[in-house]
Amino acid sequence: MSENTGIERFIRPELATLAGYSASTSPDTLEGKVEVPVEGIIKLDANENPYGCSPRVNQALATYPYFSIYPDSGQTELRKLLAGYVGVAPERIVASNGSNQLIDLIIRLFVGPGEEVINCVPTFDVYRFSTEICGGTLVEVPRDTNFAVNVKAVKTAISKKTKIIFLANPNSPTGNLTPQKDILEIAGTGLPLVVDEAYYEFSRETVVPLVKKYANLMVLRTFSKWAGLAGLRVGYGISPPKIANYLMTIKMPYNVNMAAIAAVQESLKDIDYLMGRVKAIIAERERLFEKLKKLKWLKPYPSRANFILCAVLNGRAGELKQKLQNKGILVRYFNTPLLRNYIRISVGKPEHTDALIKALREIEEVVY
Ligand code: PMP
Repeated sequence: MSENTGIERFIRPELATLAGYSASTSPDTLEGKVEVPVEGIIKLDANENPYGCSPRVNQALATYPYFSIYPDSGQTELRKLLAGYVGVAPERIVASNGSNQLIDLIIRLFVGPGEEVINCVPTFDVYRFSTEICGGTLVEVPRDTNFAVNVKAVKTAISKKTKIIFLANPNSPTGNLTPQKDILEIAGTGLPLVVDEAYYEFSRETVVPLVKKYANLMVLRTFSKWAGLAGLRVGYGISPPKIANYLMTIKMPYNVNMAAIAAVQESLKDIDYLMGRVKAIIAERERLFEKLKKLKWLKPYPSRANFILCAVLNGRAGELKQKLQNKGILVRYFNTPLLRNYIRISVGKPEHTDALIKALREIEEVVY
């Protein structure tokens, strides 16, 4: 049908064949397609917080009086709040509609058509996605067999066209950290370096203190995981003030909505509660890891985040994902050359772990 409209001739040719970002599955789209009712689906595919958000967020939003007015586009209060949480000056902070939006903004700030972005693969696919939308070229530097970054290869991959290097730390979907000395070596190249710390509250390793020293270093964080606000979309970046100013200039007006701002305020008032949940998730991650290790046909990788990557040793990872989905358990499968034999499992509550392990054992009996 699209050929008949002839609209393709107006569309940017490089986008005509773009592979979109393959997002997680929304349980309500599975109504009638799985063996359990939608309410019974266990969602372990997007690293969301199984405990939800702080109850203070629900209470505040139930009676929130300002949904009818635009938020402060300059993010004055929000930047101060986030700055206080991180321990930097507010002029270093830019808030966004999820940290995904900041990834996109940063790429739009630095990368023009034909310019290069270095990506240490396998990694978070939004870096590729936004680069390609901007007409940039992705230069992929493979990680080693344990998913460590190959710093030497990163440096070798730098060309005159390189505009940004991305590094997720801990990396998604592999869960491992890059040692700070390696990050410093890459930052030392002087090229814009984005260290994505979406899982910082789980790993507790950060390069934020280095942002003062390096004019080329940006750090990304999010409220989606530790604070349970994935659905409200709040992320932020910490960067040198100069970069923050540019990002504030090119961002859409009102990019963080009123509900999200109120939710950040309440979450930060309830840090002890939320950090208690983070602690429970970390403990559960270790329990899940031990249980997965016992299944001979899976190889879990140690993680510093709130998920575990597992190699499916007979290579039938896509099939496994589908079988779990049929039983009402969602895990993530990435149908890409480097990740084809893996699934990624978000850490849930103890009862989610138990249900998952039971389902894996049942599948094992029939198929493996
Ligand atoms: N960075 C990484 C490494 C992630 O895994 C994610 C979430 N999948 C994000 C950024 C985006 O998070 P959000 O847009 O919800 O803040």
